[in-house]
Parts: sequence; structure tokens; C-alpha cells
Amino acid sequence: SPLGRGPGGGPRPGSPVAPVPILPGQVVRGLPAATGIGVGPVWHLRTGVLEVPDSRAEDPKAEWRRVREALAEVRRQVQRLRARTAREVGEQDAAIFDAHLLLLEDTDLLGDVRARIESGQAGAPAWAAAVARVESELAAISDPYLQARAADIRAIGDQVLQVLLGVSTSAATGQGVLVARDLTAGEAAELDAGRVTGVVLAQGSPTAHGAILARAKGIPAVVGAGPAVLDLPEGTVLAVDARAGEVVVDPGEAVLARFVERAGALARARQAALVHAAAPAVTRDGVHVLVGANLASVDDARMAAASGADLAGLVRTEFLFLGRDQPPDMEEQEKTYLALAEELGGRRITLRTLDVGGDKPLEYVRMRPEANPFLGVRGLRLSLARPGLLADQMLAVVRVAHATPVSLMFPMVSQVTELVQARRLLDEAVAAEGRGQPSGLQVGIMVEVPAAALKSAAFAAYVDFFSIGTNDLTQYALAAERGNDAVAAIGDPYDPGVLSLVDSVCRGSGGKLVAVCGELAADELAVGVLIGLGVRELSVSPGAVPSVKQAIRSVLIDQAAATAARALRADGPQAVRALLGRSG
Ligand code: PEP
Ligand code: MG
Repeated sequence: SPLGRGPGGGPRPGSPVAPVPILPGQVVRGLPAATGIGVGPVWHLRTGVLEVPDSRAEDPKAEWRRVREALAEVRRQVQRLRARTAREVGEQDAAIFDAHLLLLEDTDLLGDVRARIESGQAGAPAWAAAVARVESELAAISDPYLQARAADIRAIGDQVLQVLLGVSTSAATGQGVLVARDLTAGEAAELDAGRVTGVVLAQGSPTAHGAILARAKGIPAVVGAGPAVLDLPEGTVLAVDARAGEVVVDPGEAVLARFVERAGALARARQAALVHAAAPAVTRDGVHVLVGANLASVDDARMAAASGADLAGLVRTEFLFLGRDQPPDMEEQEKTYLALAEELGGRRITLRTLDVGGDKPLEYVRMRPEANPFLGVRGLRLSLARPGLLADQMLAVVRVAHATPVSLMFPMVSQVTELVQARRLLDEAVAAEGRGQPSGLQVGIMVEVPAAALKSAAFAAYVDFFSIGTNDLTQYALAAERGNDAVAAIGDPYDPGVLSLVDSVCRGSGGKLVAVCGELAADELAVGVLIGLGVRELSVSPGAVPSVKQAIRSVLIDQAAATAARALRADGPQAVRALLGRSG
């Protein structure tokens, strides 16, 4: 069968090399994908093999109708999961499911299914074969985007097949430590964080959708643990230390007691962080560090307010522009930005201008295809090339800034001339509005391009603040694309090269505020080193605000600066982690 999978989504039956079995007490190592400690019995996501009988059918019309009904059912499932993810995790992560919804309408795929049915195949094998064809075509091209789409189509293909075959998976009902080959976004979205105490994946990468969602739900997760974990019998007790990327199989009483105690201590720490979430984050020697939230919806703003965020340190305004066939007009933008500020009780909102182009195309902006979209016309480059879109957004920002404190920042800046040009457009918007310079309006740039980090002193004259986007800065500094699993271990923000760029921004900032709004800011281990380098604002996903504030409260600036200086001289990201683990 084209889509047959083994138990737990494991190797296909009869796969040639059997993994070496795991013994009780053994420690299995993988990659950390989410922090925390979890203990519980193994459960496998899939218990049966998805066997597709290669059957023929008499009535093509009826078969095609069954496929269409299955597609409609899966569309409803995906929409439900999308809504739930937006609610529980945030809009940014929920957007993962938009690709799945598009695949359900892919005319090339559906045309192929239909042709196979017309030639006498039953619905399920026709669907499976058409999916397998697209999957293998995409996987064969060495382009990480197309390979990620191959994973998407495999996920959605299985989901439709399950409906067609009348089998169901149990991601929603599992309890204990989930063990699987990999985890799709849909499966991860269904996990109940109250019952799933850990996730251990044989394959996967920390940046894959499934891992991101598990992390966002606060479930400890280890990925890339190797195929042997798939053969662990259900019920085997696992102790998962997600930060270390370690899993102890069938731990003895003493080890188990230690894990349970550490899990309890972590839970108490989380509780303490929540109690103090609304208070300012001040280091032990009295330096106030702002903790902002990264937002991609009005719901996110609500969650940020409840989590004690001091401000919105990054509003990804593209959430208003993607997935529609025309841009939002000025009034819609103004209304939405005001709603964010209102949810945050009038705290400052940092609006980033539209960051699309390249890998995030807009349907209503025609662009030439690019061989290397991450190095192409994206972010501010696109805005300057198509100033119409930006002009509307600037006008909305100016209007909002007359009503509430606003910071405006530009993404993907590499040259001072780009910033000067963008500021000129802002001046034009201020003039067009005709009410003078809004008093609370601050202007800054995102530092995502290594050259910009090295030139911060040149930018300092033109900005009120810098905000370092470590997600992009890391991929550009190490030439390791952020979406490509194969280079995930190279694109490590703890690399001393990346930290040196953060250092350079701080040294050249001329006293202007330096923030970090990439994922690194949410990592408690990194908080001290960032502050030690001179960063004074961290902006993180709303749920991470309390723990980041708590981490700041244990920092001593002089000590953090000394540790940071050593981290800059370390020979690699692992040495940096070891150094920070010891010092903190
Ligand atoms: C970044 O690049 O670090 C960042 C915060 O922007 P985004 O993740 O939206 O590209
Ligand atoms: Mg970025």
C-alpha cells in the first residue's frame, strides 16, 4: 500500500534494519524541542497500520462523492483545529493550517484523483496514489519549501485517508508520554496539555510545526530520538528532561523520585512567575528590563495583557494582509491597531510594517519568482519597491499614534539609505494627516541582517530603538535557513557568532534602547547573556512573559556581563550552553 505505516507511525513493515532495542534504565538522547520535565507511561499515536486495499469500483460517481465528502469532513476538522490553536496558542502558529486548507482544494491533486477514479480505481487508493505522486515529486526537489510542502501533503493525505477508511487516531485522548515517528501540526494541536506529560519523537526537528505547537502548549518535548523509541511497549514509564534532550527509559525508583521532584519544583516556579507576572522585571541590582509580547492577532493581545506584558514589542502586521485577495484598507488597519492597544490597556504597541515577500508572497502583489526568496525582495525592500501598500499602512500608524503610544519599526533593513527612504515616507504620512508629529511615536529598525548589526552605529542617528530579530539574524549569520530541518542544528542562536552580532548592535547603539524579539528572547537560559550584552527589552510569545520576567529577576548585571564576555569567546553553541547552565 502506498501509505502503509507501522505502529506509532514507525518504519514500514519489513524495513531492513531493526533498531537496537532499548534497555530499562537506559538514557536516550535527542534534541531539545521544548523545556520542562515530564514523567508518564508511553502511548503511541497510531496503533494500527493504515492499509489501503487496492480495490476497483463499479460506480466512479459514488467514489468521487465519497472523496469529496471526506475532503469536506477534513476541512471542518482542520478549521476546528485552526480555531483552537488560534485560541490556545496564537494566530501566528494557527496559520500553519492555512497550507493544509489550500491543499484540500489543490486542482492538480484533485484532478489526478478524479482521473484515477474515472479509470476504475476506488476512492481511497485513488486518493492515496495521487497524494503519493505529489509527495514524491516534491520530496525529490532539493528545495526546503517544497520539502516542507511534501510533509504538509503527507499529513493532510493521511487525514483524508483515515476518514475514507473509517479509522481514527487518538491524539485527543492520549495520556502520558506520546511516542511517535513524527508529529503533524494537526496531531500536535489536538494534544491535551493537561494529560500529555511529554512528547518523544523518533524523527522531527525542533523547528517543525508539530514541535512548535507542543512547545507553545508547554508540553516537554524531545525530537530526533531515533527509531528504537518506536518499539517501546505502551505503558513503559519514561522520564523526559526536555531541556537536556534526554529520555530515561523505565527509570528506577531513585531516578523517578528525582524527576518527580524537579517537575514539582518547575511547576512551583511557574506558579511563582504567574503571581508576579504583572510586576516590573527588575534585576537584582535594580535595572528595569522591559518584557513585551509578540502579537499576531487581537486575541494574542488579550493573552499578553493577562500574562503581564509591559508592552507589545512586536506586532506582526502581516496577519492582516495574508490569506485574502486584497489588502486591508486604512480604516481596517487603524481599527485593528487601536484594538490591540486597547486590549493592552493603552500600553505601547510596536507595529512592524508589512514583512512579506520572498517566501511569504501576497496574492495581490505580483512578484517575479526568486531562486532564493530569503535573499530577495522581502520585508522593507518590498515595501519600498511597492510604496502604495506602505503609504496606507503609515497613515494608519500615524493616526493610531495620535491616540496611543506607538513604536514603528521596519523589517529586514540592510542599508541606512533604506531607512532614510522609509522615514521620508513616514514624514509624508505625518504631513498628510496634518496634525503634527505624534508625541509618543518612536521609530526603530529590526536588526535581522548581519551587516546591519555591524553597522548599528551608522543607524543610531536615525532611530529611537533597535529590535534584534534573532530568528532571521541566525539564519543569515550561519547561512542555515530557518525552515530547513537538515541545517537546524547549524542555525543555532547560541552560536558565539550570533551573540557577537548582538554585542555589536549594543556597542553601536549610542545609548538607544536595544530589544530582542526573536525566539531566543523567550529562552530562560539566554536571558542573562542578552542582558549582559546590553539588551534592555525582551519581547516573547504572550505565554512566556511571566517566566522571562522571573528569569530577569535573578540576573546581576556585572556577573551577566562577565559571563557574556566569556560566551563571545566560546568555540560553539554547546560550549555557550554549558557556560550558561553553570553560571545560572
Ligand atoms: C525574527 O526574525 O527574529 C523575527 C522576530 O521576525 P519573524 O520571526 O517574524 O521573521
Ligand atoms: Mg524576521
